[in-house]
Amino acid sequence: MSALHQNYIAGEWVSGTSDIENRNPSDLTDVIGMFAQASADQLDAALDKAKTAQAEWAAYGMERKQAVLMAIGNELMARAEELGTLLSREEGKPFAEGKGEVYRAGQFFTYYAAECLRQLGENADSVRDGVEIDVRREAVGVVAVISPWNFPTATASWKIAPALCYGNAVVWKPANITPASAVALTEIIARQDIPKGLFSLVMGSGRDIGQRLVESPKVNAISFTGSVPVGKGIAAAAIQNLTKVQMEMGSKNALAVMDDADLDLAVTLALGGAFGGTGQKCTASSRLIVHNAVHDAFVEKLVAGTQAMKVGHALETGTQMGPVVSEQQLSENLAYVDLGKTEGAELACGGARIEMPHDGYYMSPGVFLNSTNDMHINREEMFAPLTSVIKVGNYDEALATVNDTNFGLTSGIVTQSLARATHFRRNACTGVVTVNLPTAGTDYHVPFGGRGDSSYGPREQGKAAAEFYTTVKTAYISAGKPL
Ligand code: NDP
Repeated sequence: MSALHQNYIAGEWVSGTSDIENRNPSDLTDVIGMFAQASADQLDAALDKAKTAQAEWAAYGMERKQAVLMAIGNELMARAEELGTLLSREEGKPFAEGKGEVYRAGQFFTYYAAECLRQLGENADSVRDGVEIDVRREAVGVVAVISPWNFPTATASWKIAPALCYGNAVVWKPANITPASAVALTEIIARQDIPKGLFSLVMGSGRDIGQRLVESPKVNAISFTGSVPVGKGIAAAAIQNLTKVQMEMGSKNALAVMDDADLDLAVTLALGGAFGGTGQKCTASSRLIVHNAVHDAFVEKLVAGTQAMKVGHALETGTQMGPVVSEQQLSENLAYVDLGKTEGAELACGGARIEMPHDGYYMSPGVFLNSTNDMHINREEMFAPLTSVIKVGNYDEALATVNDTNFGLTSGIVTQSLARATHFRRNACTGVVTVNLPTAGTDYHVPFGGRGDSSYGPREQGKAAAEFYTTVKTAYISAGKPL
């Protein structure tokens, strides 16, 4: 019998109405544990307690809050190897990526620990004589955090850390496919000097407990990362209560490889950007827009590099790409492979389910050639280890193709020309632009977010997060007599 992991509701670890089993996608015989599914009543209890706990937390001194966030961050970093192993075991990313993710999650907490001490307001003279103005930010209240499985610890942390930093309570619904990482992070947070109920973990399906959470009038703000259809549903629910909402969703990121690019660098960036995290990243390089003059040489190196990638168990030494996260995601990926071929793209390599010593959701990384930007495989987020090469004749065509998408999270250019890099940086219609760097991989102290269907609401991360997690108060103060 596998261990049963409980929800953390209103300051208590509690069992749910039912449990779900969590299995390792690298080895389906490995059961990670059973995870409680929260009931509607438990969710309501978490929300009620969050409201009173939030008022208490907001009144904590800033050094006390800072100490809490610093302790969480330090523990995550110190235990990155152990918790990274757990993360890789349940999500399927290679151990180095799992460990790196947990460490990065710790950095979000230590960054926002410092931000606890840097919450400065503004002041101004009034247009009225004898009146002064003080502008400062206050917590929004109870924040619902809904996070995905592809970065189960980091994405949750870049939402939870600023939420707590700016004085809010958090009710967290993680993805049901990666609950073990959620319980591990919750255990760390629950041990801190925080008011009872300030932080709750409510595991359960998105359709059920997630939907109830976003519809609740007890929630003051919702931060969501996931798919576009679910995001649109959350926005529709949020508007019924005029709840503040922030969403990061899919993308169709392009890496443009110019005729003056260092081709070895370009191939390294393309491989890392396309197949890191098994292609299951909102920042993945899923369109490779390549100048005609270097197309054949680039493609030869790209296909050779793709075929050389070692696919394997996430925790085995030497694995460069782990399994796909689930059977459902794998079958959707394979359906895109068929669709790409039907649309007329040429599958140069990979894109097939592969048998491994362990039974898991393995597929080979795939490259489509001779694809056009109007194909479904170049317009829809696949979230798969698949990338498509689109040949273009010049820089202007490359830029136009990069921008011809409904999404707009990241884009990159590989070039040795400062003029082109500068033009691209200024004219690419994405929230993040990279030059001679992968489209995936961002820092924690600067804004993150996109345009179009990729994002909605204020930016995440860095100081920009304050916009979402706080509300502005403008105070007018009169001395009661002329100054
Ligand atoms: P979803 O958008 O369904 O899930 C993201 C989160 O939202 C999960 O915690 C999920 O819970 C929750 N959720 C689902 N439905 C609701 C709802 N009605 N109300 C509130 N919360 C809800 O993504 P999937 O995991 O199903 O992945 C599908 C596709 O979404 C991927 O193939 C990819 O294209 C995209 N995606 C994009 C991500 C990104 O980083 N931008 C991250 C993940 C997915 P639960 O999982 O428990 O149902």
